[in-house]
Amino acid sequence: MIRVKSCAYIGIRAFEVNIEVDRSSGLPQLITVGLPDASVREAKERIRTAIKNSGFEIPPEKITINLAPADIKKEGATFDLPMALGILAANELIPASIFEKYFFCGELALDGSLRPFQGSLILTSHFPQSSFVLPEGCAMEAAWAKKAAIFSVRTLKEVVDFLNGKTVIEPLNPDPEAFLKESPIYPDFAEVRGQNHVKRALEIAASGRHHILLVGPPGSGKTMISKRLPSILPPPSWDEMIDLTKIKSVSEQHDGGLVLQRPFRSPHHTSSAIALTGGGSSARPGEVSLAHLGALFLDELPEFKRDVLESLRAPMEDGQITVSRAKNQITYPAHFLLIAAMNPCPCGYLGEPTRRCRCALNQIQKYQNKISGPILDRIDLQIEVPRVGSEFLTKDTHHAESSEVIRARVIRAQTIQMKRNKGKLNAQLTPNEIRKWAWPDPNGLALMETAMKNLRLSARAYFKILKIARTIADLEAEEKVAKKHVAEAIQYRGLDRMSLRAG
Ligand SMILES: [Zn+2]
Repeated sequence: MIRVKSCAYIGIRAFEVNIEVDRSSGLPQLITVGLPDASVREAKERIRTAIKNSGFEIPPEKITINLAPADIKKEGATFDLPMALGILAANELIPASIFEKYFFCGELALDGSLRPFQGSLILTSHFPQSSFVLPEGCAMEAAWAKKAAIFSVRTLKEVVDFLNGKTVIEPLNPDPEAFLKESPIYPDFAEVRGQNHVKRALEIAASGRHHILLVGPPGSGKTMISKRLPSILPPPSWDEMIDLTKIKSVSEQHDGGLVLQRPFRSPHHTSSAIALTGGGSSARPGEVSLAHLGALFLDELPEFKRDVLESLRAPMEDGQITVSRAKNQITYPAHFLLIAAMNPCPCGYLGEPTRRCRCALNQIQKYQNKISGPILDRIDLQIEVPRVGSEFLTKDTHHAESSEVIRARVIRAQTIQMKRNKGKLNAQLTPNEIRKWAWPDPNGLALMETAMKNLRLSARAYFKILKIARTIADLEAEEKVAKKHVAEAIQYRGLDRMSLRAG
């Protein structure tokens, strides 16, 4: 019996598939076992034609092909190539012993050429130290898994010649440096006129990975500022770039390049829950996974449907999302920094000195209540963004701090946190860990008690303020959380105060 190695993936998890080919006397026919999916059954005709058009023959006997393991649903056409190779080996056109050396994946066109498929990097990064023979169109992406050897091929004929030693193919060796030079650049904070307290809040959010809500009237520049958040996040590590590329490669047609930047996703408020969380018939990753390791921006937060906001609860809690498809449960990572924006009231002008808010009190409460509960509970920072006149952006960037300078502080603060918190950023701290690592000094504690009474803060808000204060102290590289850190942290509970004002 001939055995050809292949592999496949569910979600972003890869597994090995073995194609076993057996030749026996009997009526000439091709029998497939372990192929419940209709698209793989169709493969038989495609493979037969591709072999013929490549100038080879199928042995005139009974050929049985089995795909193992049987219990995993195997779909798609990427088993075409290993199945065809198994048949050719059964006809003694390829020495079967060579199959041990490589994984083979690829869809065959009728003329014998090979078609690329999505998610090749998921396969190659799962089997390091292995060799793969893959269609040219997806070989480059696959080769970002540096430890695997990738052989790029165009046709079935080329693969057969390669395996028989008639053609020499060198493994790909892509240069990430070349891509890094082309790295896209996010807009810079130096271009933002004024709004220093908003920039400061975003610096804190980026440092501790605290979810943040910006509240301000129309035209205050909330979106313009939010778009600059990725520019102060630390650059992704190599492993993070691989993870980002894997998600991208199963989400949409992908150019094969490495994803070099943290993502910034901004789904519209009319988006469905499936668009945000993923799943549906294709089981593709949703916006929360496409924002993995980057930022998810939700503008006009109260305009999102209730069930959509509810669907964010699990990923915000667990950093991942599980979607169902047929009998499979697919889990995608979804560790994002949420940045949300909203008007303070339906008309937008509550608290504005220059314009009068025309909303009734119950309208304001109804509007703010839309985001209460699941989302607001998980947002650490809330900040008011006032209007600053008509010009938000300035070409005179000499006086404002650049994103690069802010990012250096963010990186330093994160390094301190990761070391002290044993691999966690401050937003993830549990109440016990807050008591251990973020407890303020006596003066800070006294201020907390006063704030609790005067602002009528909940216990939940209490711990959020301490987490924020911890991040502020980390930005200054101070070991102990002091009164000044607590005092600043209290300012970032804007909505609590606003609700009080409205009430
Ligand atoms: Zn209003």
